[in-house]
Amino acid sequence: MSKTSIYGLTYEQLTDWLEEHGQRRFRADQVWNWLYKKRINHFSDMKNVNKETIALLEDNFILETLEEEIKQESKDGTVKFLFKLDDGNLIETVLMRFNYGLSVCVTTQVGCNIGCTFCASGLLRKTRDLSSGEIVEQIMMVQKHLDAEGKEERVSHIVVMGIGEPFDNFTNLVDFIKVVNEDHGLNIGARHITVSTSGLAHKIYEFADTGLQVNLAISLHAPNNELRTSIMKINKAFPIEKLMKAVDYYLEKTNRRITYEYIMLKDVNDHKEEAHELAKLLKSRRHLSYVNLIPYNTVEEHNQYQRSDSTSIQTFFEILKENGINCGVRWENGADIDAACGQLRSKQIKKKNIG
Ligand code: SAH
Ligand code: SF4
Repeated sequence: MSKTSIYGLTYEQLTDWLEEHGQRRFRADQVWNWLYKKRINHFSDMKNVNKETIALLEDNFILETLEEEIKQESKDGTVKFLFKLDDGNLIETVLMRFNYGLSVCVTTQVGCNIGCTFCASGLLRKTRDLSSGEIVEQIMMVQKHLDAEGKEERVSHIVVMGIGEPFDNFTNLVDFIKVVNEDHGLNIGARHITVSTSGLAHKIYEFADTGLQVNLAISLHAPNNELRTSIMKINKAFPIEKLMKAVDYYLEKTNRRITYEYIMLKDVNDHKEEAHELAKLLKSRRHLSYVNLIPYNTVEEHNQYQRSDSTSIQTFFEILKENGINCGVRWENGADIDAACGQLRSKQIKKKNIG
C-alpha cells in the first residue's frame, strides 16, 4: 500500500483514524499541534508523542511529498514556487504580499480540462487531481519558507486560483479547506479563503450546501452566451442562465457576496456595450456582487489576445460604477516573474521538452 500525505486528513479524520488504530483520541490533538503549529519535518520530532503512535504514523503516512524545483522572488515580494509532486508532475504555488496580509494561490489539479482559450493552465490537459494532502502541503511549504526567513510572518489568506478547476476536484477541495481552517491548526479564517470556479453550476449548489463560510469567485469574463462560449467552452454545458440560477441559489442560501472575475481582453469583451450588458445581468443581485476587472496577462500561445488599454478598462469600470455595480481593477503582483498562474509551469515544461 502506498503511503498518503498526512496533511490530507481533516482533524476529525485523523482522530477517527488514530482511534481505529488503537490510539487514544487525545493523540490527535498532539499530532495536529506538531504538524500545524510547530511544523515539524519528521514524525520522530514529535517529542511528547509515544513511540508506538509515531511508528504507526510513519508506517502509514508521509510528511513531505512536494519538492521545491524552482523558487522565484519578485521585486514586489511575490514568491513563485514550482513544486515537483512525487510522481514527477509539476505544479505552481504563488505567495503574494498585500497590505492586508500574505496570500497564497494554490493549484488543485495537474493541468485543466476546461480549456479556456486565454489561459496558460488549460494548454495542458488534466493529468490528475491533486489529493487534499498535496493542496494543504503547498500552504505548508510556503509557511515553512516564511518560518525559515525568521520574520514571524504567517499565511493569512488563500486563493484557490492556481492551475485547475477546483470544483472538478470537489471532495479534496472541501477537505483542504477544513484542514487549513481548523482553529487549533493553521487557523486561516474561512472569510480569508476564496475559491474561484469557471462556473460549474451544479457544484455551486453543492458548495452552498456545505455551509463553509469561504468566498466564492466566478470567472465570468463575458456578459452573454455567444461571447462567453467563444472564449470559454464550458459555457456550452453551463450557459449564463444556468449559472445565474445557481448563483441565486447560492446567494439565497449563504447571503454571501460573490466576486465575478472579468479578464479585460482588448477588442473582445471590453466594449462599452459589454459593460452595460454586464451591469444589466448583475442589477438584481448587485447588493451581493463585486466585479473584479483583471488586466489580461498575455500568454505566448494565445497571441490572439492582448490586454485592454487602460482607458478601456477605466471606461468599463466607470460604466459599472454608474450603474451601481461594486467593482475594482486588479493590478497584478509579480509581473516580472510569470505570476499569472500556469505560466511558469508551462514555460518549464516547454523548456524540458525542447532540452
Ligand atoms: N479554474 C478556476 C480557477 C483558476 S484560474 C477558474 O477558472 O476560475 C483563476 C483566474 O485567473 C480565473 O478567473 C482565470 O480566468 C484567470 N486567468 C487565467 N488566465 C489568465 C491570464 N492569462 N491573465 C489573467 N487572468 C487569467
Ligand atoms: Fe482551467 Fe480556470 Fe484556466 Fe479555464 S481559466 S483553463 S478553468 S484554470
